[in-house]
Amino acid sequence: MGRNGDVVAIIGRANVGKSTLFNRIVQKRLAIVDDIPGVTRDRIYARVEWSGKSFYLVDTGGFPNDDEPLLDAVGRQIARAIEEANVIILVIDGREGILPQDEKIAEILRKSNRKVIVAVNKVDEPMHEHLIYDAYKLGFEDVVGVSAEHNRNISNLLDIVVAHVDEETVEEDEDDAIKIAIVGRPNVGKSSIFNALIGEERAIVSDIPGTTRDSIDTVITYEGKKYLLIDTAGLRKKSRLKDDIEFYSLLRAERSMDRADVVLLVIDVTEAVTEQDKRIAGMVFEKGKGLVVALNKWDLLPEGQPKLGDSIIKFAKEQLYFTNDAPVITTSALSKRNILKIFDVCNEIYTLRQTRIPTSILNRMVRDIVSFQRLPSDGKGRFLNIYYVTQVETAPPSFVFFVNDQNLVDKPFERKIINELVKVGNFRGVPVRVFWKNRR
Ligand code: GDP
Ligand code: GDP
Repeated sequence: MGRNGDVVAIIGRANVGKSTLFNRIVQKRLAIVDDIPGVTRDRIYARVEWSGKSFYLVDTGGFPNDDEPLLDAVGRQIARAIEEANVIILVIDGREGILPQDEKIAEILRKSNRKVIVAVNKVDEPMHEHLIYDAYKLGFEDVVGVSAEHNRNISNLLDIVVAHVDEETVEEDEDDAIKIAIVGRPNVGKSSIFNALIGEERAIVSDIPGTTRDSIDTVITYEGKKYLLIDTAGLRKKSRLKDDIEFYSLLRAERSMDRADVVLLVIDVTEAVTEQDKRIAGMVFEKGKGLVVALNKWDLLPEGQPKLGDSIIKFAKEQLYFTNDAPVITTSALSKRNILKIFDVCNEIYTLRQTRIPTSILNRMVRDIVSFQRLPSDGKGRFLNIYYVTQVETAPPSFVFFVNDQNLVDKPFERKIINELVKVGNFRGVPVRVFWKNRR
């Protein structure tokens, strides 16, 4: 599976069929790799696999619209797409032909150095094929007639798209490094923490190209260990386009997380833990990554109130109850509080995520559960029986339980088992996967 993907943005004026095309590509026929609950509802991007390559597809039409004139909003979306995307699908309504607004968008796109593919939509039947010729005058080489609604020619379009999507590249030299993604909402202090990390004189810093165009990774050697900070380009140089769309930062975070071993979730302590923070933490766990939380801007808390600090940490842990007690570090990029501790804790979580629990210990755990816990039943006297358990994977640790009937397992019991595993393996901040298999 891919480690990172290019971004492919669907753009075009209203009603040409962008959302229909997005849904067509995402929902049908293709494997969506990352389908995270909480995030799916208002999802406007998704990871798509096609012909052995993967990319993130973005529906720019799904952006929340402010009160500004429509053209400004479209212009902003285009500017953003140009900045963030590697490939752009420009959607045109074949029935309406090329309108002045299409030409305007095309003009901006021609000046970008992005690959642009024109999808002439609503070409519902072969007899409508002539509709596409008009679109060549926009000046782009690749023009495809499609019908998003009737599922025509979508695979052709995708073939062209992936021809321009970068191969997944695996960092050969840095495989021994602990890969860390620094994520969080805008303005929580990610860049400041990054700068504090590279500014420490005890750290040796070097840049290497990231896996996609325009991305830079930073390798830091600290106390003899290598840490690779993923896609730090955005942390060094802020986007030129300041706006309130958190969307791209979430997408960027997701791309970084996909490559990470450990994710450092930075939270602004003055804003406590927000829904968005919880969402990101949930994504980290869905992706099977280790999680470390930094409560940043600790210096802004009033001095001389240790109880306040304690209650804030307690609150954060409560909010992030599903993260197996992920470590929470209190940091200040300003005063450099606990900055180097970030390395130590990430290293610890990295190691835990790789841990293999000896089978003898696992089976002792099972014996205890079977002896001391009430096992779920079908209500008619038939109880779950666990024969044995084995760890099939690390990073994240994954376990298979062999049982008499997997249908007897309910959610609360599975949660209980996960909690036991977390205790036994000390998997704090590490997601644990559990599978059930029948054995006669
Ligand atoms: P968006 O504003 O660009 O996201 O456009 P939508 O995806 O919301 O589609 C606008 C309208 O065009 C909707 O009524 C769709 O049902 C319709 N539509 C989208 N794709 C096609 C298509 O391939 N053929 C036809 N005939 N209608 C389509
Ligand atoms: P990012 O958007 O998450 O990368 O956040 P930045 O690193 O750009 O920081 C946003 C703002 O918060 C800037 O004004 C920083 O100076 C400030 N900031 C970052 N970390 C701290 C901190 O630990 N303490 C205080 N007081 N301010 C901070």
